[in-house]
Amino acid sequence: METKYIFVTGGVVSSLGKGIISASIGRLLQARGYKVTIQKFDPYINIDPGTLNPYEHGECYVTEDGFETDLDLGHYERFTGIHTTRNNSITTGRIYKTVIDRERRGDYLGKTIQVVPHITDEIKRRMLREDEKEEQLDFVITEVGGTIGDIESAPFMEAIRQLRWQLGRSAVCVHLTYVPYLKAADELKTKPTQHSVKELQGMGIQPDILVLRTERHLDDHMRMKVASFCNVDLECVVQSEDMPSIYEVPVNMQKQGLDAAILRKIGIPVGETPAMKSWHDFLNKQRNAKREIHIGLVGKYDLQDAYKSIRESLILAGIYNDVKAKLHFVNSEEITRENVAEKLEGLAGVVICPGFGSRGIEGKIIAAEYTRTHDIPTLGICLGMQMMVIEFARNVLGYKDANSREMDEKTPHNVIDIMEEQKSITQMGGTMRLGAYDCELKEGSRVYQAYFGGEKGKLKGGKPTISERHRHRYEFNNAFTNEYESKGMKCVGINPAANLVEIVEIPEKRWYIGTQFHPEYSSSVLNPHPLFLSFVKACLS
Ligand code: GLN
Repeated sequence: METKYIFVTGGVVSSLGKGIISASIGRLLQARGYKVTIQKFDPYINIDPGTLNPYEHGECYVTEDGFETDLDLGHYERFTGIHTTRNNSITTGRIYKTVIDRERRGDYLGKTIQVVPHITDEIKRRMLREDEKEEQLDFVITEVGGTIGDIESAPFMEAIRQLRWQLGRSAVCVHLTYVPYLKAADELKTKPTQHSVKELQGMGIQPDILVLRTERHLDDHMRMKVASFCNVDLECVVQSEDMPSIYEVPVNMQKQGLDAAILRKIGIPVGETPAMKSWHDFLNKQRNAKREIHIGLVGKYDLQDAYKSIRESLILAGIYNDVKAKLHFVNSEEITRENVAEKLEGLAGVVICPGFGSRGIEGKIIAAEYTRTHDIPTLGICLGMQMMVIEFARNVLGYKDANSREMDEKTPHNVIDIMEEQKSITQMGGTMRLGAYDCELKEGSRVYQAYFGGEKGKLKGGKPTISERHRHRYEFNNAFTNEYESKGMKCVGINPAANLVEIVEIPEKRWYIGTQFHPEYSSSVLNPHPLFLSFVKACLS
């Protein structure tokens, strides 16, 4: 089958969950046996979100091939299990950079370079994935960030308009809008949807399918009204009510025939509705998980989206352990020696979160000391692992001034040091140690047990080797390895090529493990991450 293209746009307000809808469409098409990818086009000028503060757009997600991307790619991977790449996350900045670089090389042979056609052509090229040397895909789902009517998204809309014309029935436009409920009038209002569709039509795009986000059920009369005002078939007006969990969304969309409507529009026989057994098994497990477990996230960003993948990984691991993980954000800037017991009270386990810079790190160190000395299961991720290492140096090895070079350039006890190849770097964007690297595990360690204890150990060259994604500039300083090991903190995961310490653990504790890499980027609904599973299990014991 020739590749088909699905465009997902949003109107009325942002934060409607376009990413979840795009991921759900991907999942539903996969369930029908199609090969799918999902990509995100963001209208901002940053080349990638790597240089953005998490307060701007939430977590920065990292692909296996080491690209810093929008957090929606995390949803795509968790829902579909696909591995996205740098070509799945495009920004206006990247589009312009490509065009401007080409202009400087003289490739345009003296032409005037303009938004139309040069920028729109480059957007179209990327939407069609012309650079990708991948197996032929059945569907490419393209989500456009922002809201219809934004000045900055206009070139993307123009590119979609042209592509729909060019591709005919091989392209479908799904538009997501919001139907607010007005309490005083006790009414649901469709006018914002009508306006949003008009705006799209004004740009020459007639949506094929409307997904209406709503907090209340829309009756058929409402849907009919939207259909007739917006030139959309009734069966193509789908409602997406709030669900108790985002993982219910694909099933809810399937029930309303969203995937069937897409296939019909394209002209592909719809056939039987796939059973999605493993997904339903997962949902049943989720619905049946009644017992609650309380886990703390010690970090500095008091914003849910900043730790999106960690949160989802914990929730998934909870479900597979038959419990509901209740997550509690603990602001590390507010943690002191005096209040740490109170701040962490009642928590069965603690995650010490990643981050950059010195804000809030002393609180993370105090939390790491508390959980170590009180034997509370603890998972430190990236900066969190580095804080565990510093805490151990200060309180067990006796180096009161131990620190990371990131926070204190002069300390003689730089137990976390800058990586050699990072020393000469002056450009901030995309220059960290990024993406997947191998890590060899020490047999007999708890992490070895977590990854290889089950049935599927992947030995590479006879060694228990895992591959995990990274995003950091600093590393464990090997000059201190022997001291750590002799005092009980073991280096149990090593990158074989560079001899970097990737995992530390204190075997005598119930579960005290820090990883330089980010396991949260590779946990998915049908393949929950072994470290998170093992961590939650330890929290329950
Ligand atoms: N700031 C630390 C480093 O660069 C940790 C980064 C992170 O937590 N992602 O090494």
